[in-house]
Amino acid sequence: MSYSIKVFKKASDVITNRRLAAENEQARNHQECVTISPEISVLEKEMAQCALDAPKAIGMKNNADEFIKNLMGKNLSAQKRIREILSELNLPSDYLEVKYFCKDCKDTGFVDGKMCECLKDCMKKISFEEMSDKLPVKSSTFDSFDLSYYPTEKDFETGFIPRERMQVIFNYCQSYAEDFSKNSDNILFYGETGLGKTHLSLAIAGKVSEKGYGVVYGSAQNLMNSLENEKFGKSNSDVSAEQSILNCDLLIIDDLGAEFSTHFTISALYNIINTRLLENKPVIISTNLTPAEMENRYSRRITSRIYGNYKYLIFCGKDIRQLKDSY
Ligand SMILES: [Zn+2]
Repeated sequence: MSYSIKVFKKASDVITNRRLAAENEQARNHQECVTISPEISVLEKEMAQCALDAPKAIGMKNNADEFIKNLMGKNLSAQKRIREILSELNLPSDYLEVKYFCKDCKDTGFVDGKMCECLKDCMKKISFEEMSDKLPVKSSTFDSFDLSYYPTEKDFETGFIPRERMQVIFNYCQSYAEDFSKNSDNILFYGETGLGKTHLSLAIAGKVSEKGYGVVYGSAQNLMNSLENEKFGKSNSDVSAEQSILNCDLLIIDDLGAEFSTHFTISALYNIINTRLLENKPVIISTNLTPAEMENRYSRRITSRIYGNYKYLIFCGKDIRQLKDSY
C-alpha cells in the first residue's frame, strides 16, 4: 500500500508526539521521585559511573574479569535499591522507565531501517480519515442499513422477495467485512440505482479500514479521472493514484458504467481488474449495468474476468432514496 507524502508526514507527527509524551511523562515521574527520595539520584549517578568505567577493562591484563564483575554487581545492587525505594513509595517497579506506545520501535516509527507496523497502522487510519471527510462513510454503516425499506412482496422481474434477498446480501457483506483478509473474494453488486449498493460498499469500507487495512474507494468516474490526470501530468496530488488503486488491500469501484468511457478508461479498467486478479487482491464493483450492457460497453476480456471471478450479488427492491424522501 502506498501513501502520499502528506499522509506519511501526518503519521510521523503522530508517532513523534507519542514519543515526546512518553518521554515527558517519564521526566515528570523522575522529577517527582528524586524530589521525594534524593537517594535515587545518587544511585543513578553510580550506575552512570559504572557505564563510564566499563571501557577501562580493555586495558587490563589480569583482573579485567573481576573488574567487570564488580561493576555489574554495583549496577545490579543500585537497580535493586531503586526498585526497593519505588516499592516503599508504593510505585510500580517500571515507574522510572519511558513507557513507549510501541515497544518495537520505541515510538520512532522504524525498526532496523524498516517502517514499523505502528507507523503503517497510523498511515492507514489517517488516509481513511481523509477519505471519510469526503464520503458519508460514518453515516453509511451496517447499523444504519434499514431493511424495512425493502418490500416483502415478490419482485416479478428478479423472482426474489426483496427483503429476504437483501437480508442475505446484508449478512454476506457484514461477514465479508468482519472476516476480511488481503485475499478475500471479489464482489460485483448489481442492481438499479437507490437499492443500497453504495451504502453497503461504504459500510464494508468503514469496517475494513477500522481493522487497519488500506482501502481505496471511489466512483468509477473519479478513479478514472485521477488515473487520467496522472498519466497526462495534470495531477497536482502527491499520491500515486495508480499505485494506490493497484496495491491497496481493498479497492471499491462504485457505479461502474456511469463514467465517461474512452479507450483510455477501458484499458485502465482492464489493467486494474487483471492486475488485481493476478495478485489475488480483492475488488468490489457496483454497477447498474446488466451483463449484456456490460459486455456491450467494455471488452469481453474485461467482462469475462469479472463474471468468472467475482461473487455476483443482485440487489432488488424499490429505490430507497425515493422512499426515504417521501417520509
Ligand atoms: Zn512501532
